[in-house]
Parts: sequence; structure tokens; C-alpha cells
Amino acid sequence: MKELADVLAAKDGSQADRLAAQAAFLLGRREIWNNIYEGRFPKVYTSANGTKYSGAPLRTAIRCDFLLASKLTLGQKYAKDRLADQAQRDLLFYILRDRERFPERTGKKFYCCQKCTSKLYECVKAKVFRYIDNAKWKSEIEVEQTEPGAANGHRE
Ligand SMILES: [Zn+2]
Repeated sequence: MKELADVLAAKDGSQADRLAAQAAFLLGRREIWNNIYEGRFPKVYTSANGTKYSGAPLRTAIRCDFLLASKLTLGQKYAKDRLADQAQRDLLFYILRDRERFPERTGKKFYCCQKCTSKLYECVKAKVFRYIDNAKWKSEIEVEQTEPGAANGHRE
């Protein structure tokens, strides 16, 4: 799944790096998606900015990076891409289930825990979702949290 992080890391790099990372991602994309879909995740995952993930937030990070990398790589074709659409539905299932239970949450724990929320924030900033209002979620995540002592742990 390193291909995901490579695409994101190359975003602001040279054109050659960007194209190489995107080509590698395109080659492995279906297999990566199948692994996500079947729930086969690595033990650890390091995203583009060096943030390391393990345990439950790792699944959020990889699902988010798959969409971010797909959007960067596919450009205009992203909107009609079948895998990207499946991946959106997959991730939104977990988020909307969580939002249903905790509809009042905003700020750093808009979704699940801080780590998951900051990944989701990257996604809504990049407008990867077509089924929800990206701007609305973005502004709800940007709300300053005033809820002291709330649990920090990942919920799932
Ligand atoms: Zn979490």
C-alpha cells in the first residue's frame, strides 16, 4: 500500500516523480482496492507526511489515502471511476454509521478519533466525496472543540 503514500508524497514534487508514482499506483490499484475491500490491511502504514498508523485508525488512513491518490492520479476521470466510487461508499459507510451515533460531534473528533478526523479532513479538503457536502463537513471539523475530557480513543 506504499503506492498510496508515494502518490501523495510526490504531489508537489517534480513531474517525473509524480508520473512515476501515479503509474505505479495505477498498476497496483485494483489489487490495493481488493485488499481494502477484503479487509486485508498491513500492521503498520506510514502516510505521505510521515505519520505512522497502526490498529484501527490505520484502516481509515488507508481508505482515505486511496481516495486522495485516486483523485490526484485520475484527475477528470475520477468522477466516473468505478473503483473510486466503491471506495467512497466503503469509507462513507463507516463515517455515516459513526455520525448517526454521534451526530453532535464537531472539531477534532468529528469522526471517530483525532487521527481519523484529520485524515477525513484531508479528504473533504480535496473534495473526494460526491455523496456528501464536502464543504459542510470541512467547516464542522474546523469548529473549535469545547468539550473537555472527551475520550481520545478510536471508536469502531
Ligand atoms: Zn479513529
